[in-house]
Amino acid sequence: MKIDILHSGSDGNACRVYTENTSILLDCGVSQSRLFSKGTFPVDAIFVTHEHGDHLGGVGTVLKSITAKVYLEEASFSNKRNSINLDGCDLNFIAPGDRIDMGDFRVEAHETNHDSNGGVFFIVENKMTKLRYGHLTDTGIFTESMTKVLQTCDALLLEANHDVKTLMTHPKYNDWIRERIRGVYGHLSNEQTMEFIRDYLDLDKLQWIVLGHLSQKTNTPEMVLEAKHEIIPEFVKVYIAPVEAELSE
Ligand SMILES: [Zn+2]
Ligand SMILES: [Zn+2]
Repeated sequence: MKIDILHSGSDGNACRVYTENTSILLDCGVSQSRLFSKGTFPVDAIFVTHEHGDHLGGVGTVLKSITAKVYLEEASFSNKRNSINLDGCDLNFIAPGDRIDMGDFRVEAHETNHDSNGGVFFIVENKMTKLRYGHLTDTGIFTESMTKVLQTCDALLLEANHDVKTLMTHPKYNDWIRERIRGVYGHLSNEQTMEFIRDYLDLDKLQWIVLGHLSQKTNTPEMVLEAKHEIIPEFVKVYIAPVEAELSE
């Protein structure tokens, strides 16, 4: 089971999870040329976390050249149906708590806490090996139910959106935007995510953690690693998106 986090951030998200039999995308907020910039690949289904353009915005154009099922919440679709052309697509509505069988995988949708109509994150389980990959971005907090689900995973992508000090002093942001990003329906900061990893996750069980959805204005890979060294210095299997990784038995 391979996980190729191709793009991660507010300029577009796309993560491919695949085996030799099955290939799915988690989010498609990039153009066709960006999606296939390393080469084309098959896509059996696209699972969309929420309505924001950096996650949903590329689905319509990518589906002009490939045929894939699309799974998303009805609220995400109805809110964007005029701006995103999904006519003729094999659309399937999902809700938090759903489990979808897709080839070698079972994909679970769980609720996030974000300023969107609806909003889910996905766990992809390999039905043969039972290994579980969790993929969570675009949430303001880790709720108790999210924590329980994330604790069952063998590898994770977690959001590390911003450095709080940089966000609070960035000249391009006003107080309203700062509070929106920091709020319970916003995005996770470097510190929030590292403290969650330290306090709630079993670092012996986890094969690796990728940190993603870094803000281009208020975060850098160096800031993420600095927070990591400070808060979870002993855990070394941490990478920053984009990255390709494997989940092995
Ligand atoms: Zn986003
Ligand atoms: Zn969002």
